[in-house]
Amino acid sequence: MIAPEFDYEAVCRGMPEARVMRGEAYAAKGWADLVEVSPAGVLAHVKGERGITYVVEVAARDASDARCTCPDFQESGLRCKHVVAAVFTALDADEAELEAASGRLTRLTDLLDMEGRDDAALLVDRARRDPALLRELEGEPVS
Ligand SMILES: [Zn+2]
Repeated sequence: MIAPEFDYEAVCRGMPEARVMRGEAYAAKGWADLVEVSPAGVLAHVKGERGITYVVEVAARDASDARCTCPDFQESGLRCKHVVAAVFTALDADEAELEAASGRLTRLTDLLDMEGRDDAALLVDRARRDPALLRELEGEPVS
């Protein structure tokens, strides 16, 4: 198993229904980009309504250990819609998608190494928490 076996019910427990539904809608729109997937957790870049991308980290099966860089989470410390979107996307991903996500940063490091960048590992580590940098390093046009 590549991804943590999230307990979706526990993740959403105590959350307002509207927040859960918005998180699921974000996932359906493909706004949650899985950056790192391991049995220990998930790191995702999740786009919000205003086009700002937040960094979401979910470590526990029930998301009791979750963090998001959005203002809601920073203020309240409560699980937000971006956490729901990240978990929902990970649960919804098929084996191939999980495989791709789990090797993503390793592949990027290898690529940068091959390009002769001696700061490859450092750059990739920064890109984990910097959506724009990640897109740039992966060669996608920055939107
Ligand atoms: Zn959030």
